[in-house]
Amino acid sequence: MRTPFIAGNWKMHMNRAEAGALAQAMKNELAGVPHKLMVAPPFTALETVGAVLQGSNILLGAQNMAPATSGAHTGEISPLMLKDLGVSVVILGHSERRHSYGESDALINQKVHLALQEGLEVILCVGETLEEREANRVDEVVETQMREGLKGITADQLDKVTIAYEPVWAIGTGKTATPDDADAVHKTIRDFVATLYGADEAGKMVIQYGGSVKPDNVKGLMGRDNIDGALVGGASLKTETFVPIAQFDR
Ligand code: PEP
Repeated sequence: MRTPFIAGNWKMHMNRAEAGALAQAMKNELAGVPHKLMVAPPFTALETVGAVLQGSNILLGAQNMAPATSGAHTGEISPLMLKDLGVSVVILGHSERRHSYGESDALINQKVHLALQEGLEVILCVGETLEEREANRVDEVVETQMREGLKGITADQLDKVTIAYEPVWAIGTGKTATPDDADAVHKTIRDFVATLYGADEAGKMVIQYGGSVKPDNVKGLMGRDNIDGALVGGASLKTETFVPIAQFDR
């Protein structure tokens, strides 16, 4: 059995006071929820949110990380700095990093290696653009992102990796993949993990769906065989929407 994993990506929203208050409300309302839970505030609010989440069942996540531990990397944040703040999970390869900031599969792969070496868990995001979907290239795109993103990662290390399937056309647009469409790609991803690492690893792999997940569509998505959780953007910014998503029951 795979433990469902619901993660919130707060992106570039909220100052420290707002983020701390939201974290406190989530800590109160999500106590006792049996799923694995995480929120990823902006870097500037990590310390505040980390302090609030002490002793809670919500993990502290980061939205990105440098491919190096220290040195001349102006504007970057090292995995050591993240660990120092209590971060245990890092989101890598988010489509906004790939498409707005030009992150390549090779760079993302470097980050995946370093994060795992430093003891952080990784959520590796993959997903196709609308153009790629319309050209029937979904499988090819996600398989390439996975093959390249996981290059050199061993089966032992894979236990600390979650895959988030996030079709780019569904992120922040209000358009959600249907449960059937999402499940079909999740199955492709799981089959591809089996090709790379064998059936046991594929069976254990937690695969989140991301793209306009809301309280009214979460149950339909999570009811599918290959969908094990969600990476939530917009709806993770309010307790009214994140709490019912995180409390979903199949
Ligand atoms: C995301 O950015 O990872 C995401 C899924 O955003 P949203 O839920 O707003 O579509």
